[in-house]
Amino acid sequence: MSVLKVKDLKSYYISEVFGIKRTVRAVDGVYMEINRDEVFGIAGESGCGKSTLIKTLLGMIKPPLTIVDGEIYYDFGDKKFNILSLNPDESRKIRWEYISYIPQSSMSVLNPVRRIRDTFKSFLGAHKKFEKDELEGLVKEHLSALGLPTEVLNAYPHQLSGGMRQRVTIALASILKPKVILADEPSTALDVVVQRGVIQLLRNIQEEQKNIIIIVTHDMGIHANICDRIAIMYAGKIIEEARTDEIFKHPLHPYTTYLIGSLPKIGDKSYRVSAPGSPPPLSNLPNGCSFHPRCPYVMEKCKKEFPSLLNVEDEHRVACFLVNKEDDNGARD
Ligand code: SF4
Repeated sequence: MSVLKVKDLKSYYISEVFGIKRTVRAVDGVYMEINRDEVFGIAGESGCGKSTLIKTLLGMIKPPLTIVDGEIYYDFGDKKFNILSLNPDESRKIRWEYISYIPQSSMSVLNPVRRIRDTFKSFLGAHKKFEKDELEGLVKEHLSALGLPTEVLNAYPHQLSGGMRQRVTIALASILKPKVILADEPSTALDVVVQRGVIQLLRNIQEEQKNIIIIVTHDMGIHANICDRIAIMYAGKIIEEARTDEIFKHPLHPYTTYLIGSLPKIGDKSYRVSAPGSPPPLSNLPNGCSFHPRCPYVMEKCKKEFPSLLNVEDEHRVACFLVNKEDDNGARD
């Protein structure tokens, strides 16, 4: 059963400097459907719009980010809403208890001049009323359940390693057992070994709390490790989406093939080929398929029309004229 439905979402950065209007189409016509208990990955190179998509799913919309079109419906059974229609007070009420967020940098959540204990206390106190010792007990229990030492509560953020800070941020984001956790590059700034621990922690939380996790990262290895399904984003659009095993075994879009082909493989010393060139600026996208200037299979049609994201197999959708030969650029599946 789907908990989150995104329909034709368009989130643009619209600004005007000296009378010149600039529009960056960060999310440009995205459709998504996420099911209960699912770990859903969003992959793509830097600047493809994936972090803006996460912010929009959280309802974190501040100018110049503007919602031009679309709907984001959450259905939690006891609560159903389009997050784009909530007022700031309603948004505050659902944030952290229903939908929480793990940012790339723990320092954007942890106050550098407050001990971790005080951050937990003010965070929890803002959401629920607790008896005197109940709050401290809850925090310690949660940290212990996640395998984190309770001594971190006495520390200031700068006294912790980057990996431990990110674990504390994850503990904070999960303490109210939210139904959805949105994670934006949660392990990018960490070294590989620490990354593995952070991803394992996320996986443990999901198994225990049965929440939906939507994780954004450019690292396909992390997606392979944790995700049930993956969407590949390019130039503000989802260009392929499938179950993780399916997309790794049977990628259909040329861009996805490059992303997967560039991953190192144990024992394989052959040269890894990544996509030629670089992504187009989101403020000046090429006509037709946005990938066409980099695509080795480009056809005349690709330069004029954008391929629709269509179902090719069960749960496998792709936007490419090579695969969807009959696509008349009309209806979306
Ligand atoms: Fe390449 Fe055309 Fe497919 Fe775009 S639609 S990925 S340009 S073949």
